[in-house]
Amino acid sequence: MEDWTSPIYAFFHPVPIIGNHAGRPYHEFRCFAKSCNKTVRRYLDKKDATSTSNMHKHAKVCWGIETVKAAMETPNAKESGCARGSL
Ligand SMILES: [Zn+2]
Repeated sequence: MEDWTSPIYAFFHPVPIIGNHAGRPYHEFRCFAKSCNKTVRRYLDKKDATSTSNMHKHAKVCWGIETVKAAMETPNAKESGCARGSL
C-alpha cells in the first residue's frame, strides 16, 4: 500500500474520491480549508504514484508556506497524540 503517513494529508479530507479518467485511476483529495473547494488529483498509475508534490503545492498556496513547513517538520502527529493519551 501507499504511504499515507505524510503530514501533508492533514491539509486534505481523509477520504479521497476514487475516480477514473480515460482508464487511469486516480485519487482526488479535497482541500480541508473551509473556504476552499480545490481538489488535487493524484494518478495511481504514474511512476510517482506516492508523490504528494501536487498536494504540497496547493497546501502552500492555501495554508501558507510556514504552516505547511511546520506540519512537515512534526515527525508524526498521530503517534505523538497517542503517546500523550496513554500517560
Ligand atoms: Zn485549499
